[in-house]
Amino acid sequence: NVGLDINSGAIQRRETTPVRVGDIIIGASNPVVVQSMINEDTLDIDGSFASIKEMHEAGCEIVRITCVSMAHAHAVGFIKEKLRKEYMDVPLVADVHHNGLKIALEVAKHVDKVRINPGLYVFEKPDPRRTEYTPKEFDAAEEKLRKTLEPLIISLRDQGKALRIGVNHGSLSERMLFTYGDTPRGMVESALECIRVCEDLNFHNIVISMKASKVLVMLAAYRLLSRRLAEEDMPYPLHLGVTEAGDGEYGRIKSTLGIGTLLAEGLGDTIRVSLTEAPIKEIPVCYGILQGLGLRRTMVEYVACPSCGRTLFNLETVLHEVREATKHMPGLSIAVMGCIVNGPGEMADADYGYVGKTPGKISLYRGRKEIRTVREEVGVEELVSLLKQDGVWV
Ligand code: SF4
Repeated sequence: NVGLDINSGAIQRRETTPVRVGDIIIGASNPVVVQSMINEDTLDIDGSFASIKEMHEAGCEIVRITCVSMAHAHAVGFIKEKLRKEYMDVPLVADVHHNGLKIALEVAKHVDKVRINPGLYVFEKPDPRRTEYTPKEFDAAEEKLRKTLEPLIISLRDQGKALRIGVNHGSLSERMLFTYGDTPRGMVESALECIRVCEDLNFHNIVISMKASKVLVMLAAYRLLSRRLAEEDMPYPLHLGVTEAGDGEYGRIKSTLGIGTLLAEGLGDTIRVSLTEAPIKEIPVCYGILQGLGLRRTMVEYVACPSCGRTLFNLETVLHEVREATKHMPGLSIAVMGCIVNGPGEMADADYGYVGKTPGKISLYRGRKEIRTVREEVGVEELVSLLKQDGVWV
């Protein structure tokens, strides 16, 4: 029953185990968590601290930070200490790549979650002369991955911390590429073998991601993964994202297509929108996706008609004025409709409505009930006074 319920129009989320990351819990019935990654050099402790603080204040609930060397791992420790002194309990995730066992073990002492990319964690230098990967070689490489992962998993398990198995389409291991090709199947198999290592060590604080820059590859990988996880009884939460989505409008469209589609199917417990822009700009996109799907209500929901020849006032201007006056009241829904022909009916479930009635006059609605008709010049003012009268104004 996972996905969009066609009777209620609500999303039934996939059942997952809860995964604790500091004070935040990903999965189970918890709200979908918003996260992002700072782009400061981790060695710049003050710069990283300032960026984490800014992101956290903007609504980023988990912040990821790069960790490419032992010096970076130590710097993460100083950053975490600085956050603690300022009473900022934002959970931190360290991103560890290439041959990162020692780095991961060090940084795991300081952060709440470690992210590894299985294709790079035990990096196999591509051999251009290779024409096949024999089952024996495959097993040997898998054993090497197991041995390298084990100390990290034991450390995370014993400290009560989390792991993200973050598979990326563009960085599958050589043996996955030879065995399954550059495919969603290869991505899923790569994650599954890491999960098995974790489970063998009785470690279940795992989140999994399957990122790709092509939306359809990303969708296919997450769908296949969720099917395989269900078959194997592995109810781990999913971290969603379209990697390298680019910038501007198209970057936001790609991210929304990938993340939004899966969320509507009931998949996904934490999200990151990856933009080639200041990371702080990713946060409103995340919340917009979640609000649009009714998964979180962190802002006012505005319903507005597109305007047409019947429109009785300047919709763009009025919508802007209504938004400016009411945007501090998350959870409320307000409709701004150009006329009464379709207006009251189509604003459907809005809590309040501002609807063009006759030239120069607008009507204010509470739900579907018309409350009063006023001159357009005082429309926004009167809407605010209605909200105050109803006791919903904060
Ligand atoms: Fe046109 Fe009225 Fe519909 Fe707005 S609500 S698009 S003004 S018919």
